[in-house]
Amino acid sequence: MSVIDQAMKANERYAKTYDPKWGAGPPKPKLAVVTCMDPRLSDLPGILGLKHADIDVIRTGGPAVTEDVLAELLVSTRVLGSKEIMLLNHTGCGFTTFTDAELNAKFSKLTGDATPAPMRFFAFKDPEQQTKDQIEMVRSHPWISKEVPVRGFIFDVNTGRLREVMAHAEAAS
Ligand SMILES: [Zn+2]
Repeated sequence: MSVIDQAMKANERYAKTYDPKWGAGPPKPKLAVVTCMDPRLSDLPGILGLKHADIDVIRTGGPAVTEDVLAELLVSTRVLGSKEIMLLNHTGCGFTTFTDAELNAKFSKLTGDATPAPMRFFAFKDPEQQTKDQIEMVRSHPWISKEVPVRGFIFDVNTGRLREVMAHAEAAS
């Protein structure tokens, strides 16, 4: 059975005890978290000690802070009411193991079709640098409120610990 078919079966059981009141009313997140698609970052309530309902989770590979992510951060903070933004990177990210050029070449070769190239995969090499760039990108967006703290972290997949990364400007001073 496919994984999705298996999930559909499990959903029938889930729906039997589902409580529609668990997230009653419109979402009122407290924190917007941008993190990687990596399953090791999925237990955010565990990693951060927050309730599911308190976290708006925005996930991309890396994570990459794309135009879409910036739009979602605006909605999370200005429409839904998140008070802070956390940029959550991690050690051992798959996106550090290839380059965009390599994946474009690989998939073109694999499929014999190069028409989608060059696609952007947002591969990167250094999570520290990546985090600093993200803080700058989000902080400098004119529509993100200056009252919303924007902080960057690296989750160590070996220890489960978070380490804060200072922004370029703060690190220099
Ligand atoms: Zn990752």
